[in-house]
Amino acid sequence: MSEVIKTHKCPICHKLFVDEKYAPFCSKRCADVDLGRWFNGSYAVASEDLDELEVEELGEALEKNAQQTKQ
Ligand SMILES: [Zn+2]
Repeated sequence: MSEVIKTHKCPICHKLFVDEKYAPFCSKRCADVDLGRWFNGSYAVASEDLDELEVEELGEALEKNAQQTKQ
């Protein structure tokens, strides 16, 4: 009787693994690496779009909104 072991290839370190606990990654470390790449990429784009003036305007708008909801 032969047992078929299903293996997966980690997209981060390209290692073959069996444990699906952190699938599709081989380990938490590789899952974190992928998350970090994705997060850093999207954060860089978002921070480019918002300059200081826009952040200030956004803050004022939020304050006005908060005052309106109080009344
Ligand atoms: Zn890996």
